[in-house]
Amino acid sequence: MSDSGEAAYSGNPGNARPGLIVLEGCAIATMDESGTEFSAGHVIVDGSTIVAVGPGNPPDFDTLGAEVRRVDARGCLATPGLVNTHHHLYQWGTRGMAADATLFEWLTALYPVWARLDASLVRPVASAALGWLAKTGCTATMDHHYLFPRSGGDVLGATVAAACEIGLRFHPTRGSMDLGASAGGLPPDDVVETRDEILAATQEAIEEYHDGAPDSMLRVGVAPCSPFSVTAELLVEAAELARRAGVRLHTHLAETKDEDEYCAERFGCTPVEYLDSLGWLGDDVWLAHAVHLNDADIGTLAQSGTSVAHCPSSNARLGAGICRTRALVDAGVLVGLGVDGSASNEESSLLGEVRQAALVARAAGGPQAMSVRDALRLATIGGAWVLGRAAEIGSLEKFKLADIALWRLDTLAHAGIADPVAALVLGARPPLELLLVNGRVVVERDRLVTADEDQLASGAAAASAALADQP
Ligand SMILES: [Zn+2]
Repeated sequence: MSDSGEAAYSGNPGNARPGLIVLEGCAIATMDESGTEFSAGHVIVDGSTIVAVGPGNPPDFDTLGAEVRRVDARGCLATPGLVNTHHHLYQWGTRGMAADATLFEWLTALYPVWARLDASLVRPVASAALGWLAKTGCTATMDHHYLFPRSGGDVLGATVAAACEIGLRFHPTRGSMDLGASAGGLPPDDVVETRDEILAATQEAIEEYHDGAPDSMLRVGVAPCSPFSVTAELLVEAAELARRAGVRLHTHLAETKDEDEYCAERFGCTPVEYLDSLGWLGDDVWLAHAVHLNDADIGTLAQSGTSVAHCPSSNARLGAGICRTRALVDAGVLVGLGVDGSASNEESSLLGEVRQAALVARAAGGPQAMSVRDALRLATIGGAWVLGRAAEIGSLEKFKLADIALWRLDTLAHAGIADPVAALVLGARPPLELLLVNGRVVVERDRLVTADEDQLASGAAAASAALADQP
């Protein structure tokens, strides 16, 4: 239990029963296994749980004296809340830097800035990043934090406190780097930790924050940063630690050609072969990017059950390449979407990634390469699979947790578009009429209700200025 009480984070403060919420008259894309959709239907939420989804008017239901909120949702589309499978929240404080660089150039420019991070700076930028993510339809997000400056304080705790404030379902991963430049890695020596420090802090983070319950709002993962910033020894021991604790494993992999060349020179194999040789593939592992894969690599990921966080905007922003999503999905690899860190995706819109995923797949593979529904599937049930939460979130079905986005499609930008799913995926970002996380209202009428947006913006601006200006 932490001093600030995050371990008790339930998403519903005060244990007050939130009552019933009834969405009426909306189009619904359930994203269930058979792709059920309704042109006009209802969703009933009781506390943190969906208790009914169907066409037409809601059936009579027993309110048991609970407070009932009816929402006239005509003109809207209800979808599962979007699931973000790769992010670095702290990067909200360093957006717009090295704007035209490759990944390795960009990292080299930003490592010295990130070396100034501490908990007091991470807290406001993480809150701002999470607040914006919620406004783009996200109800569950991971975070990959891998920078822990020696005098930085409880940086991971700052991200947990931010998620608690904004109210998103949170999967922070304890990241790490132990391969500094003097040992052949990319990061400068002053931003890496020792293996012993990393493993002890990772164990501590799991003990302090991880909640494995089915309705958990907070699950911790283990996430050494990348093949060019961590040692093989750390990868092996981190995987052993994660598997002992029963938590998931994550890292960056096969993001750029530079990384491909690094692995070929240093290890004599592809990035996927390298991870495989260290026992790092399996159905408890998800990999960010997976852009540069050959057919054998894709087969290896499929056979091992390893899943992928596809980050199309970041890959395009850094000119890294285009992930072979069609080939991955056809091979049976589970794929979710991620915004990636905000310093390589200034938009950081999860709905934006849905559009981008559809468009880049088609740019590379033709118009059949990804349908609008396939793209929305990646961002919802796909992401839930990737985070190990498919039994609980990712689709609108009876007895799943009430993580729901209600998009308004009857304003200037969308009114008249024939297919609501096409309107959502290919059109502009619509106003978010309502965002429920675990049955709790987080966004309403396109405004965040759990925090003051202007205060989030000014807090993030001050922290960004401090990061940029300090010597
Ligand atoms: Zn990343």
